[in-house]
Amino acid sequence: MNKKYDVVIIGAGNGGLAAAIGVLKAGKSCLVVEKHNLPGGFATSFVRGRFEFEASLHELNGMGQGAHTGSTYALFDELGVVDKIDWLQIKHAFRLITKEEGLDFTMPIGPEACVEACKKLCPDGDKYMQRFIDLSINCAEAMNYIGQSKGKPDPQVMQTKYADYLACASYSVDEVFEAEHFPKVMQYVINAYWSYLGTKTSEVNFAHYANMTYKYFLYGAVAPKLRSHEMSLAFVERIHELGGEIWFNTEATKILLDDKGRVFGVSLANGQCIDTRHVIANCSPHNVYGKMLNKVPEAATKLTNFRRLAGRGFTIFLGLNKSPEALGITDHSYFIYDTADANVIYEKMKKLDSAAGQATVCLNHVHPDCSPKGTTILYITSLFMDDVWADVDEKDYHKKKNEIAALFIRKFEEATGAKLFGHIEEIAIATPQTYARYTGHPQGTIYGYESQPNDSLMARVQMVNEDAVVSGLRIGGGFGERLLGFSSAYKSGLSEAKRTLRDIEKEAC
Ligand SMILES: Cc1cc2nc3c(=O)[nH]c(=O)nc-3n(C[C@H](O)[C@H](O)[C@H](O)COP(=O)(O)OP(=O)(O)OC[C@H]3O[C@@H](n4cnc5c(N)ncnc54)[C@H](O)[C@@H]3O)c2cc1C
Repeated sequence: MNKKYDVVIIGAGNGGLAAAIGVLKAGKSCLVVEKHNLPGGFATSFVRGRFEFEASLHELNGMGQGAHTGSTYALFDELGVVDKIDWLQIKHAFRLITKEEGLDFTMPIGPEACVEACKKLCPDGDKYMQRFIDLSINCAEAMNYIGQSKGKPDPQVMQTKYADYLACASYSVDEVFEAEHFPKVMQYVINAYWSYLGTKTSEVNFAHYANMTYKYFLYGAVAPKLRSHEMSLAFVERIHELGGEIWFNTEATKILLDDKGRVFGVSLANGQCIDTRHVIANCSPHNVYGKMLNKVPEAATKLTNFRRLAGRGFTIFLGLNKSPEALGITDHSYFIYDTADANVIYEKMKKLDSAAGQATVCLNHVHPDCSPKGTTILYITSLFMDDVWADVDEKDYHKKKNEIAALFIRKFEEATGAKLFGHIEEIAIATPQTYARYTGHPQGTIYGYESQPNDSLMARVQMVNEDAVVSGLRIGGGFGERLLGFSSAYKSGLSEAKRTLRDIEKEAC
């Protein structure tokens, strides 16, 4: 054993970096071990030829601007990183194009603009949009109140102030929209963001979905100027300012438990052992319980077996040798689906070559100088809802990924009229195998565990203590209680840091 740390964090992804700052701010010692030579996990960038590609982030919501800052801004402020990052404001929410329904709709940003834009979708489209915004705000405020009351809200307050939340919180997006008699076209448009959560609208919890979506509609979204790597570097700088340590190229292999099943250290791939009584794992619980513990509590096995892995990632990064204008790429953020029915697309995404849905971003529309003059960066992201890549033979792998990438590119061209083929200067294709190798996440999931009706954000937030089945070990990040996403992973990391600090305090009593 070497130097002792109050807390060791395994993984310098968003959750691990936020957790480290939380621990250090309380004056405790903290070591982060990261198996790669870079911080951020998915939150990074890479270079091919003349292009620096964003590896993951499409957009970050909840920042807001001016007097109207949101919860992500507050989080970054608390962590002391908000001013270390150069933020760029995204101008539209999205452009939704669906083949079956012939929809081509651009959602602006700001409540009035969103309501106005929906007027032309159907009779009373504006009223339905306003109703969605009102419901969402009520749900978000209720969730804040429940958080502030530490899980013990006053029933009287809930009934008087948060009646909409109480009516919606146990139901799926589809169930609430049906109960509220939302016309199909309104459902389609509001559901466009479904692939950001990667859960069917028949299953995803309404309050969770609304809490994410309304922030895009109301406050818009931002992107860091120098890709998400800039955010990761800002976190690393802050950790160093607070006296923390990060060891790169350092893989944790075991979390050491004493004979009472309590954490007493972490062993590393280089044979070194680190002395600590508290670990926050930013890696997948499948790996923690499946590989890193010698004795796995039954509850952990049951929990991880019960949970469903969320979408496995597939991304095509394109460096194009013409400007967006010359190529006919008019927007920053596109959702292109074969049909607007999320439940149908979700099922199609269980097949290898349906290419049924994509979320595509043209970085130049938020940051015109992100690539050399007269060029474009475009990245197309999709999900596989099953482990279909496991069936691809090794010898067919490269051919298959090129074929599937071509399908997605062709669908983008057909939907938008833009011309991509013939202008591809650089291309990189990340499959679920790429993501599995890079982060170690099972089957290449990029979204942690999927939200299910009985394992939604609401259920998990109420079960955080039951989730901590090994004394001294907590899980923070995209596999945590807030589920996937940049801000969720940061928030989860910070929450686990705070819980760990309370554990340390209790031990001292
Ligand atoms: C293509 C793509 C697009 C996305 N778009 C968006 C978006 O627009 N908006 C959004 O909110 N989210 C998006 N996401 C999801 C988001 O990136 C993730 O939810 C989030 O980054 C996960 O953070 P995390 O804390 O779970 O850490 P991860 O990024 O999962 O990182 C875990 C870290 O742990 C390290 N590690 C693992 N095992 C060990 C070990 N044994 N020892 C040491 N280190 C270890 C890994 O190397 C890695 O650095 C996207 C993801 C992808 C891939």
